[in-house]
Amino acid sequence: MSFTMHGLGVSGGIAIGHAHLVTLASLEVDHYSIPVEFVAKEIKRFDRAVKLVRAELDELEVGLKTAHKLDTHSGDIAAFVTIHRMLLEDPAISVEPRAMIERENCNAEWALKLRVDELLAQFADVQDEYLRERKTDVRQVAERIVSALTGQGGAVPEKLRERAEDTILVAHDLSPADVILFKDHQVAAFITDLGGRTSHTAILARSLGIPALVALHTARELVREDELVIVDGTQGVVIVAPEETVLAEYRLKQHQWKLEKQKLGRLKAATTTTLDGVKVELHANIELPSDLDAVRQSGATGVGLFRSEFLFMNRRDLPDEDEQFEAYKAVAEGLKAMPVVIRTLDIGADKSLDPALATGGHSALGLRAIRYCLAEPQLFNTQLRAILRASRYGDVRILIPMLASSVEIRQALLAIDMAKEQLKVEGKKFNDNILVGGMIEVPAAAIALPMFLAKLDFLSIGTNDLIQYTLAIDRTDDTVAHLYDPLHPAVLHLIASVIEQANLAKVPVAVCGEMAGDVVLTRLLLGFGLRDFSMHPANLLLVKQRVLMTSVSQIAELVAAIMRSCDPEQTRELLDQLNAL
Ligand code: PEP
Ligand code: MG
Repeated sequence: MSFTMHGLGVSGGIAIGHAHLVTLASLEVDHYSIPVEFVAKEIKRFDRAVKLVRAELDELEVGLKTAHKLDTHSGDIAAFVTIHRMLLEDPAISVEPRAMIERENCNAEWALKLRVDELLAQFADVQDEYLRERKTDVRQVAERIVSALTGQGGAVPEKLRERAEDTILVAHDLSPADVILFKDHQVAAFITDLGGRTSHTAILARSLGIPALVALHTARELVREDELVIVDGTQGVVIVAPEETVLAEYRLKQHQWKLEKQKLGRLKAATTTTLDGVKVELHANIELPSDLDAVRQSGATGVGLFRSEFLFMNRRDLPDEDEQFEAYKAVAEGLKAMPVVIRTLDIGADKSLDPALATGGHSALGLRAIRYCLAEPQLFNTQLRAILRASRYGDVRILIPMLASSVEIRQALLAIDMAKEQLKVEGKKFNDNILVGGMIEVPAAAIALPMFLAKLDFLSIGTNDLIQYTLAIDRTDDTVAHLYDPLHPAVLHLIASVIEQANLAKVPVAVCGEMAGDVVLTRLLLGFGLRDFSMHPANLLLVKQRVLMTSVSQIAELVAAIMRSCDPEQTRELLDQLNAL
């Protein structure tokens, strides 16, 4: 039966494909008795599941080792897979449950769970940290066998091998770490029950250029494996098992959407200048060096935000200085002389390191970003040294996230000076005049801007967090997502005032939050005096098209009216008028 669900469209476009339910399998399994005459069959079922997991891991291991030659990220995952492959051969996991099935006359899942619970209990007394960490691996291997037994999907990447381009992922929730793994598997779309518009999960969906919807609440429950699904990321609608007529209509819409995208492609080489000759810079936001292709295809004139924390995710160790240096150097060289703004580690809140590593809190108000880096000077120093060393290979700049006080600015600058001194002593070369900027994403920073203007070479407004912190709305919480409002007068006044003050002080200022890539807001930001936008490459040409069709002198009046408006409906109306000019 066909039905429709509504959620938050966080990445536009239309996808039509088959649902793949992403199950983060658990060891919460049923327990039932097996009649004696079926015990042998149950043991065979268990053996088949182990065999399937063995084959899956083997294939994954080979695939990842090949991919490792292309990016370092896959190498770390490959190391995991190897450990899992070894654990699978442990008799406690792959052999002893067979005896348990026979002895207890129980189902295979239950036998496995009992044996693995015993095994996990033994880890409680283990002192060695490395061995203690293996507890998670044991659980994951067991979960994988449970998945194989129940015929359900496993963890994200390995289930996407075939027909990925026809796959609509349906998950209860996806972490940014999960989504980053999709980069290697061009799925058609994803939909989740939880999530907010500017959660990092949503941001990554936009960077993949695929339609995505979050906050659907019951999608994981209602959609069945392999069911035909239409995802309209622009309208925030999901249609499950559509009627023929609806399907035909959406195929047409999808075709038009693809044509539009192709048409935009022709703007790639054009310089970005308004109708009245004002030059605008459009830069790209990236998460990994492998995003450079998308940057080139978008025609961006540099990288305005490299979210370096993604180099630190989906792994059990921290990238050392050389590994980071290679990643930053690859981006710097790949961009030739174009600028790349590397943001120092912004971990904490919804972006976390592996739990085995000491990490910042999960609260957006906690030990996040620069606060975390200043609390972990060794880790910060390693990253700064790597960025500085890479600065010889291009136009590399440093961006510090989440600054709120002058003490933090001073300490961050001191840490950079210290890293420079160390490199000098060691005779290692770097750009001594590297530009250092700060993100303006905490209201305190926007309000007390002069102290930032005095000490930093450039500013970048992180509207995602600026909105979150100004309106006290957790950007990942779908229950308050409707209150997350970029057009709130408080937000608009903060952004306009930062741009105005920076322009007056002649300190370069950019916007790198999601507002920069929202074409509905392009003219408004131009009206505030913004001339430097940084966004996901997937949005760039649409924004460019809008800039090319704008005359800055014509928009001033309506922008001023929007700034005077205190009524959300009137603001929307004025914005529509602005975009219709
Ligand atoms: C922002 O906060 O607007 C920003 C660009 O940084 P992030 O989304 O990574 O927090
Ligand atoms: Mg931020």
